[in-house]
Amino acid sequence: MTGKTLQLTRCSKTYPDGTRALEPVDLTIAAGEVVVLLGPSGCGKTTLLRLVAGLDRPDAGGRVVLDGLDVTAHPIEKRGVGMVFQSYALFPHMSVAGNIGYGLRVQGWSRAKRKARVDELLATARLTELAGRRVDQLSGGQRQRVALARALAPRSGMILLDEPLTALDAGLREGLRAEIAAMIRDQGATAVYVTHDQAEALTLADRLVVMNRGTIAQIGTPREVYYRPASDYIAGFFGPVNRLSGTIEDGIFATATGTTPVPGQPDGATTLAFRPEAAIVGGGGLRFQVATSLFEGVRQRLDLEGPAGERLVAYAPGARPYAPGDEVTLGIDPDGLLTSSDG
Ligand code: ADP
Ligand code: MG
Repeated sequence: MTGKTLQLTRCSKTYPDGTRALEPVDLTIAAGEVVVLLGPSGCGKTTLLRLVAGLDRPDAGGRVVLDGLDVTAHPIEKRGVGMVFQSYALFPHMSVAGNIGYGLRVQGWSRAKRKARVDELLATARLTELAGRRVDQLSGGQRQRVALARALAPRSGMILLDEPLTALDAGLREGLRAEIAAMIRDQGATAVYVTHDQAEALTLADRLVVMNRGTIAQIGTPREVYYRPASDYIAGFFGPVNRLSGTIEDGIFATATGTTPVPGQPDGATTLAFRPEAAIVGGGGLRFQVATSLFEGVRQRLDLEGPAGERLVAYAPGARPYAPGDEVTLGIDPDGLLTSSDG
């Protein structure tokens, strides 16, 4: 199966009560691409996905083109897209295989073709053993794998997922992330995946669409958006950002708290921006004091203070405890410096 292409042109959405959920949005998605819509709750992700699905129409002037065909006026059943929601919307009394094959039966696939396709998806979703089990006897993670297999079954070439992992607990979510990505790519489908979870978005996306208040704030690969954020808002959306002002001469960064090498950076006065993981505790000559430390297990978060009131966040391994008042030295990983996307 080859995935479908998708083109949204000036798609905005105003709900009947006057709520402006989406400003005019342009977005082009290539065949087989996995695109993640990421943004805080209420920013318009579900609204955008519903326009793609045909569950809602854009305001006048908006166009949805699927594989070259203008489907703006087509309802969901005419669009040929698969959907997976946060709540599973499976048939609880039907078996796993029955659920996966349901859409194929509706579409009139022959019994033999249906069986071959269902068997293939059972294997892809690692559900072969559970083929005959009723879905109300499955765990949440298993149900979501059934829901994804069911959506992929008709080979529609376009799959839309709205926070499919949000209802599951943290450990399960992480494991399923990788599995969902593998299933979608294995089937060659184009996917639009909605989430408010940054780690999920970074892990899954070929391309990330960061949304804010009904607009697209930035589109890029996960690394582009993370290391070259288009705005302070986007930078901050992925976690704390440190900023330290000083002067670079011959690859040495000098500031009130000391000096540290930043090879490859141009000479002159500058403010370096970097995430906590690029602040290398013990790795350079910047001197800071621990203000607070927070043990998180795999790591510990250090809130640091410099002599001129500079504040930084750094991570250290969790095993060695730090206490308020401890002195630490810091270096900066030059590869982890943030650059603005327009500079
Ligand atoms: P997200 O999925 O990013 O959390 P939504 O697309 O669901 O955001 O919602 C975007 C905005 O539109 C929110 O302010 C929400 O309250 C509003 N909204 C969503 N659905 C409706 C509706 N049917 N009628 C009126 N307002 C809505
Ligand atoms: Mg939503």
